[in-house]
Amino acid sequence: MDVVQDVRAGPPPHPGALDAVDTASVDGARANGTSGLELTHVACCVCGAEDCTPAAVGEDFEYRSSADTFIAMRCRGCGLVYLDPRPTPSELPRIYPQNYHAFDFSPERFGFVYRVRRALEGRRAVQWCRGLGDHARILDVGCGDGFHLRLLRDFGRAGWKLEGVDASVRAVDAARRAGLVVHHGSVEQLDLPPSSYDLILLIATIEHVDDPPGVLRAVRRLLRPGGRVVIVTDNTATLDFKLFGGRHWGGYHFPRHFNLFDRTTLQRLGETAGLEVESVETVVSPVNWVYSVRNTLVDWGAPSWIVERFSLRSPIALAIFTLFDAANQLAGAGALLRIVLRCPADQNVASGAAAALQSPRAVTAQPSNGALPAAL
Ligand SMILES: [Zn+2]
Repeated sequence: MDVVQDVRAGPPPHPGALDAVDTASVDGARANGTSGLELTHVACCVCGAEDCTPAAVGEDFEYRSSADTFIAMRCRGCGLVYLDPRPTPSELPRIYPQNYHAFDFSPERFGFVYRVRRALEGRRAVQWCRGLGDHARILDVGCGDGFHLRLLRDFGRAGWKLEGVDASVRAVDAARRAGLVVHHGSVEQLDLPPSSYDLILLIATIEHVDDPPGVLRAVRRLLRPGGRVVIVTDNTATLDFKLFGGRHWGGYHFPRHFNLFDRTTLQRLGETAGLEVESVETVVSPVNWVYSVRNTLVDWGAPSWIVERFSLRSPIALAIFTLFDAANQLAGAGALLRIVLRCPADQNVASGAAAALQSPRAVTAQPSNGALPAAL
């Protein structure tokens, strides 16, 4: 359906479509649609359908980059949750403000939390690289300030060749100051050497990009046959989504997370790009829990001293929700998803398959933002 028209002017074409969310909130979003950010309508990037139903109405609770109200839709065809309408590429400098955390996740700013996260993520990062040779070539797409590349430099093998890509000048400058090789731009537009990387990482990146199938097709071109992709992203099939998904869920990160996945949609995305699924599993993370509570408190006008108990600088809240999410992980529903995809050994076969499965986004010729800074 034409969501721009729906949000700004008229009733939804599906009676009962608003059952999942507060209808007064959707009316508010309609009224607010004439000011603020420039927005554009999109279709589902996984299956191409435009048959969707509102899942949530929310605001930029974290940075207040605009006064707009945003709507997350759920595709009736495949279940993808996506921001529609969403900010145009020209609005990116506004929705990623100067104090955006992925531009500067430093020990000076985050202290104890930085040191704990560095130790935990360091172990995970080395796991992603299992089976790589001594001189493997690794690319981190949406590398932000180079946090994960620094982990691989510190905990990985000395002979690994590490590179990053990011669309933010500020993030690229920070990563280069740390001595890393980082390309500025989007992975679709950069002229990187094809069939040359052994491992490509997209850690908290795929949810930020406007055209995930386009990004994965570009990634597949860069991988050597048999090379792997590791994607880590928010999981919508979780208890935190069930509890907070109508408005305050941290994974929405309004308006910066454009597409949100569950196991099925993430797997389908990889296959659409001509990649083979090696594994899909969930991962423990406290971040969406902490931000779901924080967003609720902010929205309810709670005093700032209470709100500040729930942030990336709050070791107690992060520790409590890590334990909480570990219980969910036992039930197979941790807060994050991790999928490992493999580039087929026979690239020609993969190219043919990908051509047959041409991205619905390519057909609709939507503008691409390229890779954006990684968030937590
Ligand atoms: Zn869909």
